[in-house]
Amino acid sequence: MIEIYLSNKTYENDIYPLVKAFYPEEDIKVFEEQEQALEPKELTEASAAAPLPVAGVLEVPAKIIVRFCMEEIEVSLLGTRLKLKEKRALSQTLGKSQYKNAMKRFLYEVLSRTTGRTLPWGILTGIRPTKLVYELLEKDYEEEAVYHHMREEYLCSDDKIAMSIQIARREAKLLEEMDYKNGYSLYIGIPFCPSTCLYCSFPSYSITKFSDYVEGYLKALEQEIRYAASCLPHKKLTCVYFGGGTPTTLSAEQLDWLLGLIKEKFDFSHVKEFCVEAGRPDSISREKLEVLHKWGVDRISINPQSMQQKTLDLIGRQHTVDQVKEAIRLARETGHDNINMDIILGLPGEDKEDVLDTLRQIKELNPESLTVHTLAIKRAARLNIERDNYSDKKATQVADALTETLKFTKENDYLPYYLYRQKNMADNLENIGYSKFGREGLYNILIMEEKQTILALGAGGMSKFVFHDENRIERVDNVKSVTDYINRIDEMIERKHKFLQENSRKL
Ligand code: SF4
Repeated sequence: MIEIYLSNKTYENDIYPLVKAFYPEEDIKVFEEQEQALEPKELTEASAAAPLPVAGVLEVPAKIIVRFCMEEIEVSLLGTRLKLKEKRALSQTLGKSQYKNAMKRFLYEVLSRTTGRTLPWGILTGIRPTKLVYELLEKDYEEEAVYHHMREEYLCSDDKIAMSIQIARREAKLLEEMDYKNGYSLYIGIPFCPSTCLYCSFPSYSITKFSDYVEGYLKALEQEIRYAASCLPHKKLTCVYFGGGTPTTLSAEQLDWLLGLIKEKFDFSHVKEFCVEAGRPDSISREKLEVLHKWGVDRISINPQSMQQKTLDLIGRQHTVDQVKEAIRLARETGHDNINMDIILGLPGEDKEDVLDTLRQIKELNPESLTVHTLAIKRAARLNIERDNYSDKKATQVADALTETLKFTKENDYLPYYLYRQKNMADNLENIGYSKFGREGLYNILIMEEKQTILALGAGGMSKFVFHDENRIERVDNVKSVTDYINRIDEMIERKHKFLQENSRKL
C-alpha cells in the first residue's frame, strides 16, 4: 500500500495515475496533507542527499509526499530504507497546463530513478494520446516538431510517438472524407449479456436473471428513439452503433423489431457505418445474423478476447473457442463481410505464448479488423473485488505480447487506425484498433477524437454534444441502471430536450 500526501489535492487526478503506472500492483490512497498530519521526523530524515535504493532492492515507498508552492515543488519518498527528498524550482510564468506538465515530469523523473523504469507514454495519463498529436498536425506542425514536443513535454518514447502520428494521419484522412461537423452519430445501448465477464465494468445485466425486464427496457428505449429521431433536424446521421452489453442477447424477433424501428425513424441516406456489437459468440445464431444483414448492418464485432479455453473458462465467458469459429463461419455465410474481433492482453494466467496461439487462430478466421485491448482492471469489476482469488493467476509478458500483436498486424496487412488508453491498464499500455485498408470502424474514431456529436440512447448512454465553433463539448447522461431507466424514461428524454432547447442553435 502506498499513501500519497498532497499539499493541494487539485492535482490528485494527475498524480495518482502516474504513481499507479510505476507501481501497478500496489493499492494507493491519496490524502490531503493536513488530513493525516505526517510526523515531522519522517520528513526531516529524508534529504536530497539520501542515497537511492541499492540496485536490485527496489523498495516500494510507503509514503509519497508532494508539496506545491508557486516557485518550487518538493517530492519525498519514504519507506523503511528509502528516505528521499527532492525539490525543483518551477518558473512562475508557466501557464496552468505547463505547470502541471512540469510538475508531472519532475515526479516522473524521481519515480523513474527510484524504480529503474521508464514508461512508454511518459507522463501522459489521459486516455487519448492521439488527440494531442492530431491537434499538433492540425496546427501544421512538421513531423519532427511533433516528435520534439511529445518527447520534451510528455517524455513519450519514439515508438509511441511514431504510432500516434501514423494513427492521427489516418484518422485525419478518414474524417476529411466525411462531413463530420454537420453530422452526428447515434449510439444505442443494450445492457444485457449472457453472463458477466470477470473484468467487466460496463452496465451489463445477465439476460437470464433480468429476462423479465427486457420488454420493459425495449418499450422505454422505443420512447427515447421516437424522441431522438427528430431532435437534431439540421444534422445528418453519419454512424449508427449498437453496443452495450451485448445487443445480440435480444431474440431475433426483438432485434428485427428494434432495427426496423431505427430504420423507419431515422434518415439513413447519409449513414456511412451501421455497426452492431455481436460481442459474445454465445449470443449469436444464424437467424440473428440474418436479421442484422437484412436491415443493412455493415459491420459487426464478434469478440473472443482470447482463443484459449482455459482463459475463457476463467473469465466467465461461458462459450468455447469452437463457438467463436462457428459464429464467424455463420456470419460469413449470412453475408457479413466486415467483421471485427476484439482480444485482450493481460488476461489472468496468460503469457506471450497464449497470445501467440490466439493470434494464430485469429489469422485463420481472417477478420477485417482486430482490436487489441490491454486489460484495465476497473474498481467495480469482479476481477478487482475478488482479486485475492486470482493473485496466483497474474498475466506475464504483457508488453512482449503487445509487441507480438504489432508484428502480427504488420505481417497480416492490418493498419492501426485508433488508439486509446484507460486507467489502470496492464503495464500502462494502450488499446489499438487495427483494420485492413478501408475497413476502419468510423464510429470508434469519432468517439475517440470527440469530433462529432453523439446521441446516446438507452441505460448508461452518455450523449456528447460537440460545439465546433466554441471548441467545447457538453455531456448529457442517462441513468445506468436498467430499472431506473425504465422507470425514469420521461426524465431521460426531458434532460436531452431541455439541453437541446437551450443549445441546439449553437451545435
Ligand atoms: S460481454 Fe462485455 S459488456 Fe458483457 S459482461 Fe462481458 S465485458 Fe461486460
